[in-house]
Amino acid sequence: MTDSFSILPRDRIETVEGFGGADRATGYLYRPSTVDGIRDVFDIARAHHVPVAPRGAGRSYGDAAYLAEAIALDLTRLKRILDWDPLTGIITLEPGATVRDLWQYVIGDGWLPPVVSGTMYPTIGGALAMNIHGKNHFKQGTLGEHTLSFDILLPATGEVVTCTPENENRDLFYAAIGGFGVLGVFTKIVLQMMPVSSGLLHVRQFAAKNLAEMFSVTDERIARGADYAVGWIDTFASGDDLGRGLVQDAIFFAPGEDPNPAQSLRVERQDLGDTVFGLVPKSTLWRLLKPWVNDTGMRLLSALRYNAGAFSSGKAVVDTFAGANFLLDYVPNWKRAYGDGGLIQYQTQIPKETALKAFREQIRLCHKHRLFPYLSVFKRHRADNFLMSYATDGYSLALDFKVTASNRDRLWQLAADLDAVTIAAGGRHYFAKDSTLHPSRITAFLAEERVARFIAMKHRTDPENLLQTDLWRRLFGGSLSC
Ligand SMILES: Cc1cc2nc3c(=O)[nH]c(=O)nc-3n(C[C@H](O)[C@H](O)[C@H](O)COP(=O)(O)OP(=O)(O)OC[C@H]3O[C@@H](n4cnc5c(N)ncnc54)[C@H](O)[C@@H]3O)c2cc1C
Repeated sequence: MTDSFSILPRDRIETVEGFGGADRATGYLYRPSTVDGIRDVFDIARAHHVPVAPRGAGRSYGDAAYLAEAIALDLTRLKRILDWDPLTGIITLEPGATVRDLWQYVIGDGWLPPVVSGTMYPTIGGALAMNIHGKNHFKQGTLGEHTLSFDILLPATGEVVTCTPENENRDLFYAAIGGFGVLGVFTKIVLQMMPVSSGLLHVRQFAAKNLAEMFSVTDERIARGADYAVGWIDTFASGDDLGRGLVQDAIFFAPGEDPNPAQSLRVERQDLGDTVFGLVPKSTLWRLLKPWVNDTGMRLLSALRYNAGAFSSGKAVVDTFAGANFLLDYVPNWKRAYGDGGLIQYQTQIPKETALKAFREQIRLCHKHRLFPYLSVFKRHRADNFLMSYATDGYSLALDFKVTASNRDRLWQLAADLDAVTIAAGGRHYFAKDSTLHPSRITAFLAEERVARFIAMKHRTDPENLLQTDLWRRLFGGSLSC
């Protein structure tokens, strides 16, 4: 902390972190509840020469939503649903409304968000700033593709401008979605929901004996009409079993199939529940998990999970929309089981032509470095037109690593080696998950011309560089000065 770190009221000083908790930053926390309140924060920041880091629910894994010795602009109090039309499925909301607020609001009218993350706690503003995808990316694309318009407050002028994908400020529409919060602050978002005739889905799990099967089983499930598909990989397995895992697909009930849709579309029927078998409170589960979160424990649990899944491979069960989508909300606070050092996630997307070879190489690199991911998730994706897009017509592998004081340097070295594979394979990085990317590798995957257009847009919307985060400084630092 520098000497200048007391220029704003001391009672504003707070430490915030990303979801992974591997790094954190101390700054001044402001939580305005109106657009004028955000403007006031900009004025305070200017008057004191302090940058502003926009922040939603802090569910990005790394350093995307904070900056040390800056103002953390927490937008979670701007959370009103401003308009909802149950006939068209068009909803207008403030950016601090969460994915949970959204699906719970619309489901009773037979609509659902077409894109949700693996947890329901991100805000819609934060989700749009990262342009999130779900387990149906191959089918529905990203959240930005269902955004009809947004209003964004620009630091340059203090104006709120409306952007649409067709005419109004089209270039800003495609740059700010996925623009990780440094071009302006979303103040209002209009989304198109998707109609559903039931809140239930048929869910099945299939064993994949190795990485090649992980690809082929996923592709087959999608070809057979899966609405959602996601793979879990046992990254401890090696040799012929390397990349083995389980693929889960989910298909919405067909119209007329649900005998009582009015019930399954009730929020109460979608609840994930607070207890296991009605006995053990889920809030305590992370404590039971903690002794297992090490190489030996996770190797054992992964083998058990794979074998149990393989045993029941192909068996169909009925699950709810919430149950099938928010798999990472089943165990509240699970990340605490990783201990004080927290975790990082390494997620990249690789084109379909090169992905199998690249992921095989990346899992082997983890083995070589003796750094094993404790959770590994595999998905199919499609490309889009957003300026800073992470999406490819390909596949992603997301690897969660426990961070400790003794493995931190080795982990960052491993990430650099994984990056080399990603870039050689023509892959891309996802900033919502990133903690380790080095700026020298940005243009290798985003192309110089895209980065130049983004920086030009930043000059237009925020020439003073008021909006900054650690991620922006780490990856684009020096592009503009505050
Ligand atoms: C358990 C878990 C599972 C996840 N699963 C998925 C998944 O399946 N798919 C996926 O795509 N992502 C997933 N994520 C990532 C998560 O959806 C994104 O990181 C999302 O951006 C988090 O939203 P947030 O509200 O927490 O935003 P934060 O993390 O607080 O901020 C994210 C970015 O948005 C900016 N921002 C926030 N609010 C605004 C605003 N109003 N205007 C402008 N910029 C703003 C911030 O500056 C920052 O750059 C997952 C995260 C977790 C923890």
